[in-house]
This record gives sequence, structure tokens and C-alpha cells, in this order.
Amino acid sequence: MGIRARLAHIFGKLGIRVLRLLGRAATTAPGRVILAVDPGFISRVSGQVRHSRAVITGTNGKTTTAALLEGMMAGAGWKVVRNASGSNMAAGIATALVDHDAISGCDALVAEVDEAALAGVAAMVQPDLAVVTNFFRDQLDRYGELDRTVDLVRRGLERVRGTACLNADDPRVADLADSLPGEVDTVFFGLAGEASGGERDAVDPAAAGLDTQFCPRCGGRFTYEGRVFGHLGDYRCPDCGWRRPARHVVGRILDADGAGLLMAIDFPDGDSLVAKLGVPGAYNAYNAVGAAAAARAAGIDGPAIRAGLEAFTGAFGRMERLSLEDREVVLALSKNPVGFDQILRAVADDAGTGAVLVGINDGHADGRDISWLWDVDFEMLDAGEVPVVVSGTRAEDMAVRLKYGGLDLERLQIVGDLEGALERAVERSPRGARVYALLTYTAMLGLRERLERRGLVGEMWRG
Ligand SMILES: [Zn+2]
Repeated sequence: MGIRARLAHIFGKLGIRVLRLLGRAATTAPGRVILAVDPGFISRVSGQVRHSRAVITGTNGKTTTAALLEGMMAGAGWKVVRNASGSNMAAGIATALVDHDAISGCDALVAEVDEAALAGVAAMVQPDLAVVTNFFRDQLDRYGELDRTVDLVRRGLERVRGTACLNADDPRVADLADSLPGEVDTVFFGLAGEASGGERDAVDPAAAGLDTQFCPRCGGRFTYEGRVFGHLGDYRCPDCGWRRPARHVVGRILDADGAGLLMAIDFPDGDSLVAKLGVPGAYNAYNAVGAAAAARAAGIDGPAIRAGLEAFTGAFGRMERLSLEDREVVLALSKNPVGFDQILRAVADDAGTGAVLVGINDGHADGRDISWLWDVDFEMLDAGEVPVVVSGTRAEDMAVRLKYGGLDLERLQIVGDLEGALERAVERSPRGARVYALLTYTAMLGLRERLERRGLVGEMWRG
């Protein structure tokens, strides 16, 4: 390793240390310094990764999929470097490489990468493994149309060698297979809809308001034999006949409750495993299957994959649990209608729910436009009697949304300050019950910072 990379490493290390001493998160700032000192740092260091350089992209599930894959690889005894959630551009990856001393060698790099940053990052990392989770409308004010996002990912995948694991149940993701470089192996993964609580009847995509309704090949309108959720499922184009490709790795949900999943995963070689996952929801089942497909492509065996699945307790923000005054508090990052609906479903299905906190901010990272709140199925909260506390910079708007959704106003309370709102929700919840906090991105960061100061949650940006 040249002097430039060594210098960059030392500067980066120093930056990370100083930020942590100040009690700040060391995510992208040190990375910017590293890349200023040595613009080739990422390609130099990732060039000596021993086994696998994986990139994970898509709208939802990047962090969880990356964390699961990391766990599976760690289960096989590998030393893995993974970038922290929220720092999924080049600078964040540079920070992670320095923080984990990748300069002195590691077995794998698992990088979650923002769709828009994929082409640039892939040029540096030269991935031999890629996972694309799904494409949903998200943060429109940052990226424009979904088409543009798909194109950005398509361009990024041109840099991938080795294996691309694609979610076959999402038409836009499956369609990427045809534009992959010839030498790339495609592994399609998905969920068996029959066992996943999906709708088996043919669905009219327009009526269901799906993010993807039209065939990317001919523009025909999809019909569905069954859906798992959103536009994910067994689609078919009646005009050109294109349909969901055959899946190589298939997950089946055997049992589910508000706290977790029991699932089976079948591999193409006839191998199969059953594992308990400590996070709920079909969206997490997708994350598990995507990670398992990638791990298998990297040569990880079944027992290590299973160990990785079972050790998982939630990546940053996705259903993180902590204990507060005899209640279990579940923090859930909820940043778009599909994500919100999935978590609301889990909340509604959980008989142990004692109170719900909804924290809505409209910071830049959340998206300034909060009209999407009207697309979320908050009516799921109407049944039952649990108190609902709303908070954040747009607490009032959220309260209006719930009021029009028909929520009994006796159950509703507005507390602007997030920490105060959590305390109120905990107070109003019976002891031993679960308090769900559904939070937009900056609301999650803000609340978590306060909880971190009180020692209630671990430092979020590590490992
Ligand atoms: Zn078609």
C-alpha cells in the first residue's frame, strides 16, 4: 500500500477519533478527508479484499440486507467491513474502510449504496456481488422519477462482475437482468406468495395504486396472479407475455407475529434451511432471502447463513428494541407509504401493543413535502384502544391526518418534543407492553441521539 493511502488512512482515523471524542457520529466527514488525500483510496483498499466485494442497492431494505449479509459472512469466520446506515455514498464507504482497518486486510466489503451513487461507487469498489432489493417511489424531491433511479442502478450494475442477485418479484428489478454484462451470473430471488399472506386473487394494479403498473418491455398493464405486498408478486404482461422469471432462491414464511418470522429458504441446489428472524414483516423476509442469495453466491454455507439470520436483531432504525420503564420500546424507521404500511400492519397485529408514537419531521432528508402521509393506511390504527402520540416538526399535520382517518380523538395526543412524546407514550402504555415509535429519518436521528445520551441505545454508527 502506497504512502498516499497510508496517509489517507491516518488522517481518516484521526478524524473519526476526534468526532467520537466530541460525541458526534463519524460517518461521511472523515471519508471526505480520506478521499481528498487519496482519491484512489477506495479502489486501492477494496482491491485487496480477500473474498467478496458486495454492493447492495434499491429503495427499501438496503441496511437490513447488508447487515444480514454481514452476519452470514461473519458466521463463516470472515472479517467483514460494512458501511453504516445513512452513509451510503463514497465518503461513507471510505470512512468504514478506515474505521475497520481494511488497509491491513479483510475478507469482505459489504456496502449499501445509494441508487444515485451506485455507478460511482461501483467504479471504485469493482464489486463481484450485487443485490438489488426493490424500487418504490421514495424521496421524489431528491431523485425525480422512478425511471431515473432504475436507470442509475442499471448503469451502476454495468460495473459488476460475478453475480447479481435480483428480486424477481419486482418487475423493474427483474428487468435489469437483460442489461447486465454477459459474464455476470443472475440469481433471482423472491418469496412464495402462497405462504406469505399475499393476495392470491388477480389484482387490478391501477386500483391498488401500485408504484409499478406497466411492463417495462412494452408498456402493457400488468396483471397479478398474487402479490406479497405493493407491486411485489407474480406479475404477468398480457400484451407481450413477459412474466416474473423463475426464482433460484425462494423464501417461505412459515409463521409470523409482530415480533418476528419463522422462515424457510430454498436454494437451487436443493439445499434448504429454516431460520427464526427477530424482525417482523414480509419486507424483512425479502431482505433475508436477498441476503441469503448473496451469501450463497459468495460461497457461504447453510449453517453460517442460518446463524446470520438468527443473530440479527435489527439494523439501525429498523425495529430496534430497548427497554424503558418496564415497557419494550420498538423504534421503527418509517420513511415512505409502503414502509409505514408494513410497520403499521405489524403494530396492528401485535396483541402486546401498548401505545404508538408517530414522529414526523420534514427536514431535507425526510423530504419537505409530507403529502405522502395521506397515502399511508393509518386507518389500521383505528381499531383498538391504544393511545397514539404524535410528534415532530409536523405533529399538527399528522394529528389532522389521524383525525380525518377516523381515529377516536380521546386516544390522540400531540407532544412536539420527540423525547417528551416518547415519555408520554410510555406513561400511557401498560407495563410490560410494547410501545412502537414510527419515525421519519431525522426524527429517528434526533430521538436516538437523546436516547444514546441516556445510555439507552448503543452508538448507531458503529459496525
Ligand atoms: Zn409487456
